[in-house]
Amino acid sequence: MARAAVSNAERRRTRQIAVGDVLIGGGAPVSVQSMTTTKTADVDATLSQIYALAAAGADLVRCTCNEQAAAEGLARIIPRSPVPIIADIHFHHEMALAALEAGVQGLRLNPGNLRKPEEIKLVASEARDRGVPIRIGVNAGSLHPELYKRFGGATPEALVESARMELAYFEEVGFEDVKISVKASTVPLMIEAYRLASETFDHPLHLGVTEAGPPPSGLVKATAGIATLLAEGIGDTIRYSLTADPVEEARAGRQLLEAMGLRERKGLDLIACPSCGRAEIDVIGVAKEAQAALEEKNLPIQVAVMGCVVNGPGEAREADLGIAAGRRRGHLFIKGQIVRVVPEDEMVSALVAEAERLVAEGIEARLAAADSSAAEEAEADRRALFEAKGEDANASEERVELIRKTIAEER
Ligand code: SF4
Repeated sequence: MARAAVSNAERRRTRQIAVGDVLIGGGAPVSVQSMTTTKTADVDATLSQIYALAAAGADLVRCTCNEQAAAEGLARIIPRSPVPIIADIHFHHEMALAALEAGVQGLRLNPGNLRKPEEIKLVASEARDRGVPIRIGVNAGSLHPELYKRFGGATPEALVESARMELAYFEEVGFEDVKISVKASTVPLMIEAYRLASETFDHPLHLGVTEAGPPPSGLVKATAGIATLLAEGIGDTIRYSLTADPVEEARAGRQLLEAMGLRERKGLDLIACPSCGRAEIDVIGVAKEAQAALEEKNLPIQVAVMGCVVNGPGEAREADLGIAAGRRRGHLFIKGQIVRVVPEDEMVSALVAEAERLVAEGIEARLAAADSSAAEEAEADRRALFEAKGEDANASEERVELIRKTIAEER
């Protein structure tokens, strides 16, 4: 596994809560959340989406509980769900009470639109008695109007104050089983708000850039905010809020944590060179073909697709497995060591077959099973390419000489 940007040991220490069997904060692995887009009352459609989200990497799934039919749906969904379910509550405290009756493992309350202290305290008391945690989900777009006025807008201080006020109501009834989010759709505001929240509270933080929008810009915004904070050791659970199939949210969340070394690799990590003048194949096409074939197998390894044998195996020597193209052949390598040379049209199939064997048998066994002539054949290809194309396929040195000559002549 890649070295973590911030190891779990270096993360900001927070209290720990449990949403069903998923621990959050207090050194637990950072978890991934997503939210269903189906009507919660539609039990089969919602369950099918929950299963898809869990398969894509979601540890927790949130469903809206906006009406009685939704609460009734939750009562039928929860016993059949593969992951703990959190009910999303806005405006109506009675929906929170109904969701608790349905057996949810967590609640999310928005302090911006659930404002009556007595109602908030009633929900907190019920959650306390049932051992169900609540997320105080502050959102810059639906900040309490009084706070908006007092702070002159949705500032980091206003967002944190909203969470603090809600927490004070909870504490009045002895309820502290809480995580907090202070989301905004503007990345710098979101980052500052979470930094302040991290200094202010020791409760676990749920990170997200709200309403990030459709991919790819939504992915970029969410990653900019979430990854910056995670790298500082801030954040205990994350959600990508994308205008897309929520499966993309769960997948992105999982991939981010794996890329930062904060979760064990569960699926494929395909790396590919960006291609250049040396490329011997259509790198983009082969990389896409390899990704599709390998994702279908769901193998937890890092695989490299490199455009040329001159630099490929060396540049991708950290990958578990890779293939580099040269002279109409593919050089298959494990941890940078050439193990097989295959015809170009068999590159992807050979890569997939080796990936399966590698996962089943381990790196040492596959290195021991390398073709004895592979290294020699590969070296012959590399030399032939050097001779045919020279060391500098982009002719940079020749261009530099021409530039110097042109300038000298013009002086
Ligand atoms: S691996 Fe080869 S083709 Fe790919 S970027 Fe590096 S030099 Fe260029």
